[in-house]
Amino acid sequence: MSDKYDVIVIGSGPAGYVAAIRAAQLGLKTACIEKWKDDKGKGINGGTCLNVGCIPSKALLDSSHKYHDAKASYEAHGIGTGDVTIDVPTMIQRKAKVVKQMSGGITGLFQANKVTSLYGTGKLLAGRKVEFTDHEGKVETLEAENVILASGSVPVNIPVAPVDNDVIVDSTGALEFQEVPKRLGVIGAGVIGLELGSVWSRLGSEVVCLEAMDDFLAMMDQQIAKETKKILTKQGLDIRLSCRVTGTEVKGKEVEVTYTDKDGNEQKETFDKLIVCVGRRPYTEGLLSGDSGVNLDERGFIYVNDLCSTNAPGVWAVGDVVRGPMLAHKGSEEGVMVAERIAGQKPLMNYDIIPNVIYTHPEVASVGRTEEQVKADGEDYNVGTFPFVAVGRAVAADEAEGLVKIIADAKTDRVLGCHIVGPSASDLVQQVAIAMEFGSTAEDIGMTVHGHPTFSEAVKEAALAVNGHAIHMPNRKKRK
Ligand code: FAD
Ligand code: AMP
Repeated sequence: MSDKYDVIVIGSGPAGYVAAIRAAQLGLKTACIEKWKDDKGKGINGGTCLNVGCIPSKALLDSSHKYHDAKASYEAHGIGTGDVTIDVPTMIQRKAKVVKQMSGGITGLFQANKVTSLYGTGKLLAGRKVEFTDHEGKVETLEAENVILASGSVPVNIPVAPVDNDVIVDSTGALEFQEVPKRLGVIGAGVIGLELGSVWSRLGSEVVCLEAMDDFLAMMDQQIAKETKKILTKQGLDIRLSCRVTGTEVKGKEVEVTYTDKDGNEQKETFDKLIVCVGRRPYTEGLLSGDSGVNLDERGFIYVNDLCSTNAPGVWAVGDVVRGPMLAHKGSEEGVMVAERIAGQKPLMNYDIIPNVIYTHPEVASVGRTEEQVKADGEDYNVGTFPFVAVGRAVAADEAEGLVKIIADAKTDRVLGCHIVGPSASDLVQQVAIAMEFGSTAEDIGMTVHGHPTFSEAVKEAALAVNGHAIHMPNRKKRK
């Protein structure tokens, strides 16, 4: 038996590594166990987010956007580029460098904060003991006052499209293509499917997204979803709703996909590559011994209460492996809350204000409730919208597609939700998230001086429009 820790974290994704750093900052003796290995077999921190999720997907989205811009937009600015080409292996290597840099950053932060980084597999035993098996197979039992489980999630596989990592891939495989597929199929037009579909579409693939649901981005505000579908379709993404994939057959270097369309007719399409993006599931394989005392819920998530405490005393769970949206920042905030609770503080997490972004171009971002949700809750509300085409900075930048929508309580004017499709939506939505945290009204946002010319003027004007006070657009409501 070796040293006893105050906190052992299992998993170093954004939920686990943030929990470990915060715990160590608060003076707790902390270790973080991570089993991920890089392509050379070396232990590496960062989890899905850094290795095969948020960061590498954004690296490819940025590269493909630059290519597309150079090819499609520069001419209008008077910039001649000659023949624009793409070297896919170089783009993929750049992404790998970005991943390495970011994951090295976590290792550095662990050192600076005195978190003990252990590379190998952790398994929770009864009584807050953790069996640690390093990459050479050496087994050791560690003890802790508190254990934080942060084992994350993995892609869902569907039997009708088994991943072979050659022609049929999941989101991880779609980050490694070495050439641009001529025809690319994507099963699932959700967040990840749209982002990865956009990357390859910008580079020249003919992309078809097959989505089983009748509504596009069903969880989003439907006004914004409709506008987004219009914009993405114009860009060349062929998004087919009410289309359920029922089978696939790999034929040499191609795959034939069978699906039922909206009229119930069977259809077939052939692709060079097929990405399966039908969601993610919590990952707990090998994590818990039979007598650990930790329960799973009916969908396989680790069961926790609002404070991320499991059924076993002193055992907590955070991030994708517990209920709630599968988002990096949601897990990180849970990690901070748990570390501070262990240290005796009493923070709470606000699950009602978690921003959500789709990194297409333009970006789609939201925080708070959608108009459909507010309506279903039976509340009286006002809506203000403002199009980017009326924002000087957006027109100057040739980024004038999309709009900002703000929903506010009809009686109190408190902001209930903000939904954006447009330039820098990911950053714009954050200002509304902060306003909502402080219980702000639409009027408060509208009265705040916004710099000019900025994209954020669309947020100010949408907030003014809630009460019929927009300046740069005729108001639907009469100005008082
Ligand atoms: P993970 O990041 O999955 O980390 C869990 C870690 O635990 C892994 O490293 C795993 O190896 C380790 N582990 C598991 N079991 C054990 C064990 N027994 N012993 C030791 N280690 C173990 N989210 C966003 O917010 N924004 C985005 O833009 C975004 N883009 C995405 C793009 C893609 C393509 C994908 C796939 C995901 C994206 N996500 C995004 C989701 C985001 O990556 C996840 O929500 C986030 O990584 C979850 O963090 P986590 O710490 O809970 O788990
Ligand atoms: P997300 O959960 O945001 O990653 O989105 C996954 C999407 O995949 C959901 O919108 C599902 O409706 C969709 N989906 C799941 N199974 C199938 C299938 N067999 N054919 C087409 N779409 C599917």
